[in-house]
Amino acid sequence: GATIGILGGGQLGRMLSVAASRLGFRSHVFEPGANPPAADVAHAVTTAPYDDEAALRAFAASVDVITYEFENIPTAALDLLESLKPIRPNRRALAISQDRLAEKGFLTSIGLTVAPYRAVDTLADLDAALHGIGTPAILKTTRLGYDGKGQARIMDPADAPTAFAAMEGQPAVLEGFVRFTHEVSVIAARGLDGSVAAYDPGENVHLSGILHTTTVPARLTSAQRTDAVLLAGRILNALDYVGVLGVELFVTPEALLVNEIAPRVHNSGHWTQNGCVVDQFEQHIRAVAGWPLGDGSRFADVEMENLIGHDVARVPALALERNAAIHLYGKTEARPGRKMGHVNRILRPVEAP
Ligand code: ATP
Ligand code: MG
Ligand code: MG
Repeated sequence: GATIGILGGGQLGRMLSVAASRLGFRSHVFEPGANPPAADVAHAVTTAPYDDEAALRAFAASVDVITYEFENIPTAALDLLESLKPIRPNRRALAISQDRLAEKGFLTSIGLTVAPYRAVDTLADLDAALHGIGTPAILKTTRLGYDGKGQARIMDPADAPTAFAAMEGQPAVLEGFVRFTHEVSVIAARGLDGSVAAYDPGENVHLSGILHTTTVPARLTSAQRTDAVLLAGRILNALDYVGVLGVELFVTPEALLVNEIAPRVHNSGHWTQNGCVVDQFEQHIRAVAGWPLGDGSRFADVEMENLIGHDVARVPALALERNAAIHLYGKTEARPGRKMGHVNRILRPVEAP
């Protein structure tokens, strides 16, 4: 059988490995950190830094296709890997989602709406950007932010120096604060043959910058639901994308604004594991392996709740809930803010159409 190479051995890499295994593939995970969650389930694991050329070459030689569970892989490593085996989703999707400025530029160029933004490299840039955008606003590092890290809210122009200092000298982008009624995301996939499949949008609630729950279906009008899925398809086609993509959206009464995109399986798509015929992990493996896609059909309304840090202490009680499926990542240390697992609650079956 073929072997799927996965860059990154966190929980997403772990669940991709399980899906690969279920389809009869082998998986080989490349992860610089020790004891990655994926190590328990992958067929092979390489623990090496991204500048270890020999390890990268051996990894590439052992796999048929390379995919990834997170977007911040060093460019030099990608250059080498790309010369050896196909990388799916492709480099352009990665480059765009690694950099908030490139991402906003791309999204705008294909006609999508994003929050007002300005590039900020100096405190003078920030003052000028605040003048143009106004407050409240959010300053974000252009690269490497996740779970709300590397962000500073600016309520008053006088807060500019403190917010700028929080960027620790990294290039940043100032975004106008969007007064959204709620947040949703679309998880969609594109196959090697260009076919597109989308799941129903989920509604996301964040706590302290970290995803707390995703509920499906999201509160959207029929027109908004169609728009959300079509805009995800537009992104997939523009990038000649292969694999699963997550698109985070802000909903306002006037528009759907794209917050950010993730070129991979996404935390807000975990509900598909218990609500769909083919879940996002199987869908991603199908896409990168060149298989036909599942159609995204959903047989239940679902609420996904993340188990963060000491939330895992609730697992014995959660295990007594009759409609809850529990997913744990095998992490032993429950540090605050660390994603330890999630639970998918089946709310009700979807009526047959
Ligand atoms: P992740 O990649 O883990 O989803 P992140 O660190 O990339 O998170 P964002 O998605 O940019 O962070 O922001 C996290 C959350 O902060 C958003 O989901 C939203 O709730 C809020 N937020 C971010 N940008 C804005 C904005 N311009 N206006 C209003 N709220 C925002
Ligand atoms: Mg992000
Ligand atoms: Mg986000």
